Amino acid sequence: MSKGERLVPEPQKQPRKQIAATSQMKKLMASHFLEIDEAQRTGRKKVAWCTSVGPAELLHAMGFLVYFPENHGALLGATRMATDLIPLANAVGYSPDICSYLTADVGAYLRGVTPLTKAYGIQKVPKADVLVYNTNQCRDVQDWFSFYAREWNVPIVGIHTHRNIQEVNDYHITDLVAQIKGMIPTLELVSGTKFDIDKLREVVDLSLQCTSLWKQVLQCGAAIPAPLTFFDATIHMGPAVVLRGKPEAVDYYKTLLAELNDRIEKKEGAVPLERHRLYWDGMPVWGKLRELSDQFYGMQTNVVASTYCNSWIFDAFDPTHPLESMARAYTELFIVRDESYKEWYMDQWIKTFGIDGVIFHDAKTCPNNSNNRYSMPQRMAVRLGLPTLVIHGDLNDLRCYSEEQTRTNIEAFVEQLDQKPA
Ligand code: SF4
Repeated sequence: MSKGERLVPEPQKQPRKQIAATSQMKKLMASHFLEIDEAQRTGRKKVAWCTSVGPAELLHAMGFLVYFPENHGALLGATRMATDLIPLANAVGYSPDICSYLTADVGAYLRGVTPLTKAYGIQKVPKADVLVYNTNQCRDVQDWFSFYAREWNVPIVGIHTHRNIQEVNDYHITDLVAQIKGMIPTLELVSGTKFDIDKLREVVDLSLQCTSLWKQVLQCGAAIPAPLTFFDATIHMGPAVVLRGKPEAVDYYKTLLAELNDRIEKKEGAVPLERHRLYWDGMPVWGKLRELSDQFYGMQTNVVASTYCNSWIFDAFDPTHPLESMARAYTELFIVRDESYKEWYMDQWIKTFGIDGVIFHDAKTCPNNSNNRYSMPQRMAVRLGLPTLVIHGDLNDLRCYSEEQTRTNIEAFVEQLDQKPA
């Protein structure tokens, strides 16, 4: 074979082996949405909107049904409704440069549509009785929830987490615990339920079990060949996001983990004849999951680990110290930390998972989850001797994404891996 000749084999044609637990997950997600819809229409239970990384445990413990608008934002992206809806939010003053979960969700509300209708027959998103945010991920969530607080004239409360921190110190935790406690009177008023620390312990314990199992699911990706892909994980993380703190999420991840361990034992890779193993940093491109997954599959390349799916690993939960451990779990997160911590964290996963190359997704409307912007890929390439690739796109706004260019760049990246000496 001459130098520079294309080394990528013919795209593989084998049909994919589906993850059998998927049907159980779909049922779980359906009952989650249908329960909230019913409760909201009948007034049977109060509904709290919550940001994806908390403080859901407190809300469950106080008897709320918990709805996660970021999950709705991802559904708008995955169903490709988002790009057409974003301009409606732009028209009322929300910039095209801010979070496209926010703009897609507000756009959907203004037009009176939701992907929940086609999926579950639900006519509209549940109206919140209270809106609860945590700025540990970004400020956009506060502005997003504030839109609905004005729209519906309902209470909004939140936690302002320290950001860009290297070490988590005691004063961070003390401050956050005080902030969490500060929300309780409003939540008691809305729910009509008195705060009970023992109930919170039970929920934190369930969240701990859920998140521990989710971590084990993701760690299955370290097996060679890996039994799941990043694209599978973006789907199967649904229960860890919306059902954390409930027993059904624990049961689900036990089932999924057993299936993945069985695949590992039988050496069944999610990508047959796996040749390369990649790490994905940044948000998924929700509207292009299938295309990207197919491209990697065709090149016998598996994206086996990611920062994004790890965002629902909360090692610190501890039912003996529920409030303090919630504060710690939600502050220890990758997105809250500075560049030095982030690099250390990624290095561990990259080494453990036998990664050959790293893809950074620079999502136009989410600087918070785009870690390429301060030279991290270049430093990583030098430090670990690994090829890195930055792709430009967005989580939801497909006007920021060039399919052609991304496809070509990924193809060239994998060819570069092919030519690397073993
Ligand atoms: S972290 Fe990014 S995607 Fe998530 S809500 Fe904030 S801006 Fe949007």
